[in-house]
Amino acid sequence: MSRVRKAAGKRSNARAADAVGIADPAGLRRRLTRWYARAKRDLPWRRTRDPYAVWVSEVMLQQTQVDRVKEFFARFMRRFPAVGDLAAAREAEVLKHWEGLGYYRRARQLHAAAKAVIADHGGEFPRSVDGLRSLPGIGRYTAGAIASIAFDHPAPIVEANSRRVLARVAGHDQPVGGAGDEPIWEIASAVVPKRGAGVFNQALMDLGAIVCTPTRPLCERCPLKGDCAAVEQGRVAEIPMMAAPRATKEIRETAVVTRCGDRVLVIRRGPGEWWEGLWDFPREPRGVTGRRIGRVAYGVTHHRIDCTVVERRAPSAGAPPAGGRWVRVSALAGLAMTSPGRRIAAIVADHGAAASRSGSLRGGRRLIRGGRSANLVKPSSVE
Ligand code: SF4
Repeated sequence: MSRVRKAAGKRSNARAADAVGIADPAGLRRRLTRWYARAKRDLPWRRTRDPYAVWVSEVMLQQTQVDRVKEFFARFMRRFPAVGDLAAAREAEVLKHWEGLGYYRRARQLHAAAKAVIADHGGEFPRSVDGLRSLPGIGRYTAGAIASIAFDHPAPIVEANSRRVLARVAGHDQPVGGAGDEPIWEIASAVVPKRGAGVFNQALMDLGAIVCTPTRPLCERCPLKGDCAAVEQGRVAEIPMMAAPRATKEIRETAVVTRCGDRVLVIRRGPGEWWEGLWDFPREPRGVTGRRIGRVAYGVTHHRIDCTVVERRAPSAGAPPAGGRWVRVSALAGLAMTSPGRRIAAIVADHGAAASRSGSLRGGRRLIRGGRSANLVKPSSVE
């Protein structure tokens, strides 16, 4: 590129940044990337620029804390070290390796996208944002992250951490989230550098995670203190403005554990259901009969669910219903199960152990949250 065109490009970048409230974009990039060079987090997926590894880590990081992702990422990459390994795997095995991360739709889409990379792109990841977005489950943020980190394309990114930093630096005082993120994408596009976009984007995310935190940001230690409109205006605590959260819906349900000897009936969640493709215990409307053996409380996207667990004895294991199967209690650990299903399986195992100790079905109603359980009351029949 000629010097004249380069200078014109720089002027138009600076104008775009100025239009979104960033006075000195070049200085901001310099200060941010210098800070990142000395303060960046040491994360396993940052030791490579392999687009497959970048992609897997980015998908895992959606809705999941960094520390938790570290252990899952290592395990997943050991089993599926390349996109071809993932594409060739059975879905049940992919889901099993995802178990504990939640939001299983991500795993199914990861699997589908791996197959598409092999079938439609000869095993090579598309390098452009548009090409990446054509793959299942890859949205604007993930495409920008892969394109910038793996291929150094000047692609902007907006996720929770970078959104907070950009909103504060630009003094953006409108609600963010959903359609409200459009102005933040404009700010991100205006400041992302032509070269080194991957480093810049990761630096934005790290600054948001380490320094520009949601509450009590460490402005005194921030490399962007002199660039920051929120600091200048004394409005750090007000920015970003979050849209009002959606109301939570309460649901009460009953999980039925049908037991025949040492086997129980499980069912695979169908298309369109939460946790599609994973195993669980059948749900029935409240009011069904059975011996109450526990209770599980859990949340799924804006729903709070109170689930009573009842047990029924079947004299013989007949043909299971569509999508169901009989499984030995000792084999439940090997199934890819929903998180409430896994907790109900723990109740079933405890209950079976208690029953075999006492020779009866004495046990206790259990309330389990976060993997801990406590006997609350003696079991009783439900309605
Ligand atoms: Fe965030 Fe404070 Fe830095 Fe502004 S100066 S970007 S509010 S940490």
